[in-house]
Amino acid sequence: MSKLFTYEHDEMRRNIRRFVQEDLDPHAEEWDAQGKAPLREIFRKAGELGLLGINKPAEYGGLDLDFSFVVVAAEELGRSHAGGIPFAIGAHLSAIPALAAHGSDELKQEFLAPAISGEAVACIGVSEPQAGSDVSAIKTAAQRQGGDWVINGSKMWITSSTQGNWISLLANTSTENGPYHNKSLIVVPLDAPGVSIGAPLHKLGMHCSDTAPVFFDNVRVPVRHMIGEEGAGFRYQMEQFQHERLWGCLRTLAGLDEVLRLTAEYTSERKTFGKAILDNQVVYHRLADFHAQVEALRALAYQTVEAMIADQDVTTLASMAKYLAGKLALELPSACAQYFGGQGYMWENRVTRLMRDLRIVAVGGGANEVMLEVIAKQKGLVKKRRSQN
Ligand SMILES: Cc1cc2nc3c(=O)[nH]c(=O)nc-3n(C[C@H](O)[C@H](O)[C@H](O)COP(=O)(O)OP(=O)(O)OC[C@H]3O[C@@H](n4cnc5c(N)ncnc54)[C@H](O)[C@@H]3O)c2cc1C
Repeated sequence: MSKLFTYEHDEMRRNIRRFVQEDLDPHAEEWDAQGKAPLREIFRKAGELGLLGINKPAEYGGLDLDFSFVVVAAEELGRSHAGGIPFAIGAHLSAIPALAAHGSDELKQEFLAPAISGEAVACIGVSEPQAGSDVSAIKTAAQRQGGDWVINGSKMWITSSTQGNWISLLANTSTENGPYHNKSLIVVPLDAPGVSIGAPLHKLGMHCSDTAPVFFDNVRVPVRHMIGEEGAGFRYQMEQFQHERLWGCLRTLAGLDEVLRLTAEYTSERKTFGKAILDNQVVYHRLADFHAQVEALRALAYQTVEAMIADQDVTTLASMAKYLAGKLALELPSACAQYFGGQGYMWENRVTRLMRDLRIVAVGGGANEVMLEVIAKQKGLVKKRRSQN
């Protein structure tokens, strides 16, 4: 047990586990088959449990706790068989840090408070058809006309957008100042005239999380919808990414633990050539090696959380944790599925499902290669250019 946790964390862990077992897991197959879950209903329950504002101010309905309690939520939700739900909650929680840290009180009352209570589903609006890894290259633009921003452009791969209430949109608000100082974050209600949502994308995994493109055609929002300072959007979004990356890592750890447990169970029962598959040294060494890597990753994730609680810059640590989570998510479930033989090629097998679901962490919120770029820059291995997602 990490020194991060107290009996209060245990109490929260039990409540979330009950929520997962009673309100999420029984519907996992049905929601996956539908390609989406009733997010508004789920978010209202999550909001009642306080899960959507754990480290947010009480003034806006949050619990005012530190990030160690967010760890508990990511770990427990990450155990859910409805993997798209912790994924969608992670996106929601990663869309609100900039608003909470830099938004005006009026904006927070209007958009943060309902996101914390679960009345509103929030989306992250960064990636575009032509710009994912290189955030500085986005094209969506907001032009000031009188008291409004007028927004044109499109966003790609937007989690929960078919059911979302608002999006934290990164847009170019100037044609000057270069690509790192010409962007702002703007809160855009998804029912604003001119916003349209494209057809849901057919994904490899995380099926009960809906993902779709979002289009903006002369969408008007009041200037006061801008979060914090004009031109600071790129910086705010980079800060926000640290939360997304940590959540992704912690959620993934729960899935990796489960894959290892299921593989040990299966291979200890299944016999070939007169002995359990697990009794082959090559097999148990591989699983032992994965256990060591998973525990090392957990220790790194907890170290990152401690640094975040101490208000330190966690860019390097969070990028390392996200990178290693992505690497393990690609390797571990695939290697373990092999030990299931033909069963490891079956769609319904929990391990093959985790193999599909977990690998998103190697791409979403910054691909593995982009994490390596960030780490290399932070370590002075290459020239620093603040250009990547
Ligand atoms: C299911 C899902 C949900 C998502 N949800 C959201 C969301 O809610 N909001 C949002 O804004 N975005 C979302 N995304 C987008 C996600 O963040 C991007 O897909 C990701 O950042 C990669 O961008 P890209 O797909 O444009 O890949 P590209 O930028 O085209 O990169 C393709 C690949 O090239 C490689 N690569 C890129 N740059 C380098 C480099 N410098 N060096 C070496 N290799 C490199 C990497 O392997 C990368 O995977 C989601 C994506 C998916 C699949």
